[in-house]
Amino acid sequence: MSRGVHVVGNAAVDIIYRVDRLPRSGETRLAGRPHRDCGGKGLNQAVAAARAGARVVFHAPVGRDREAEMLAAALAGHDGLTVRWWPRPLATDHSIILVEDGGENIVVSTTECAHSVSEAEAAHAVDGTQAGDVLLMQPGLTDAATRAALARGRARGLVSILNVAPPLDPGPLLGLADVMVANKDEAVALFGAPVADGRHPPKGVARLVVTRGARGALLWEAGGCTVLPAPTVDPVDTTGAGDAFAGTLAAGIALGVDLRRALAAAMRSAADSVTRRGTHAAIATLTPPRW
Ligand code: ATP
Repeated sequence: MSRGVHVVGNAAVDIIYRVDRLPRSGETRLAGRPHRDCGGKGLNQAVAAARAGARVVFHAPVGRDREAEMLAAALAGHDGLTVRWWPRPLATDHSIILVEDGGENIVVSTTECAHSVSEAEAAHAVDGTQAGDVLLMQPGLTDAATRAALARGRARGLVSILNVAPPLDPGPLLGLADVMVANKDEAVALFGAPVADGRHPPKGVARLVVTRGARGALLWEAGGCTVLPAPTVDPVDTTGAGDAFAGTLAAGIALGVDLRRALAAAMRSAADSVTRRGTHAAIATLTPPRW
């Protein structure tokens, strides 16, 4: 039976500069006119889950400003996506993204709105769910708010997926997430290189997915470590690949697809997204036969 996906996370305006190569420390690079777009890992993953065919409810804090209006206008009427904004007397969060010609990127983000979400609000956001729904969370909110939402989700019988990354401390969250997803660098920082490389199992995590860019992903579960190769593509812009991956994975689980097939679809969606510029704009709509 098809279940919903609930995303409690951040929304931001991305300001994207294209450069011939990323600057080194202390160096200035020239860029053309910046491109503005919707972003934030919560928003991108909610959009990815909806485009993969899930019914998605997305809770996010925003300011009372033009940036918030831009985000609301962009998501209004999106198929399968219901947004519950938390308006704040603050500036909407934003990210400065530099993308070099080869597709690599660096990102700096503000978090004032995201960090304003209280534990009570985060937990309350999960109250409209049904057992078996999927709760998808990312780094962005405070550790305390993330933990509160995951704990409420666990109490309500949700399947929870946590895209975990520093500075979020996975320690207090280990027993609360059914699947953790981290990219290679994040997995090294949080769990150590032997876990990120597939040489040693993570402790206390039911399932850990380590994403490895063009090399695909590793799945750690009780039976050991499985290497999952990615489709080969010509990357144009890798920004948001991790979000396409996490959102599609959540949608697959909500739609009743088994974990391996959901991971395969997540890798197809993420590989496809790197062939186009942009973050959420690069995420294609998956149609059911692609599952
Ligand atoms: P980002 O921060 O750029 O959004 P990330 O660092 O969180 O991404 P990655 O491990 O780079 O995550 O990518 C996530 C997934 O996207 C990978 O596991 C892979 O399936 C897919 N992917 C990323 N880059 C490529 C690529 N060049 N070719 C094919 N698949 C890719």
